[in-house]
Amino acid sequence: MNKEGQPQGFDFHCHIDLHPDPVAVIDLCEQEGIVVLAVTTTPKAWPQNCNWAARKSNILVAAGLHPELVNERYAEADLLEQQIHESRFVGEVGLDGSPSILKSYDQQKEIFGRILDTAQKRGGRVLSIHSRRAVRDVVTMIEGRTDPERVLCILHWFSGSVAEARRAATAGCYFSINQAMLDNDRGRKLVKYLPINRMLTETDSPFSMIGNSRSMPWDVITTVEHLSEIHGVSSTEMKISIFANARQVLHFAGVEMPFRRIDKRAD
Ligand SMILES: [Zn+2]
Repeated sequence: MNKEGQPQGFDFHCHIDLHPDPVAVIDLCEQEGIVVLAVTTTPKAWPQNCNWAARKSNILVAAGLHPELVNERYAEADLLEQQIHESRFVGEVGLDGSPSILKSYDQQKEIFGRILDTAQKRGGRVLSIHSRRAVRDVVTMIEGRTDPERVLCILHWFSGSVAEARRAATAGCYFSINQAMLDNDRGRKLVKYLPINRMLTETDSPFSMIGNSRSMPWDVITTVEHLSEIHGVSSTEMKISIFANARQVLHFAGVEMPFRRIDKRAD
């Protein structure tokens, strides 16, 4: 946050708990004014992330079960369902159709279906969704099981086609975009066709790379600049749009901006 408590950027998909020193990253995010959606890959990781974020208004924690871990963590699906009753944010969840984990695809669909149903029942839930090699099924399930008035879906690191992106946007989805998506022609072309009023920024840190370095949450500031070039608008205009989208998504989950820095001395 700056002095007025205004955010400088939004990272809507970051694995803070998979950094070597999560607390140091959280402190730096606060200094840099970055609002982070800290996604988790297993339900058991959620309480620790909530503890780290407890006194930080810029860190929001999502309860999740990564589709790649569904096979070994299948028994934790019940715990995740309980957490969705408490947590306004859910992620990382979704489907992954990669050949190496295709054997768990039916289990993945079952669990993702239960997650969508629980979010729909509770309402006011924001989901960060993984859809690698599974965009069609992910969007079909979102369309069939949720209502955009009750569940707001963000497709993280979307890698489908332009037609699939249009269909997802019609279903009410947002798209969180990271720097690695903009490193190649295909990614840039896709992003050019995404509606500006549905775009958010993310890093998927520490998994995504920028050149030879691991991305960090404050890289979203540069991503906004690149998005402005791709869309042919000024960086100020793009920043205003992305921030308005972020405000809308957070408002959906009952979180209002600006975030005021929590004064640790004032208890
Ligand atoms: Zn991720």
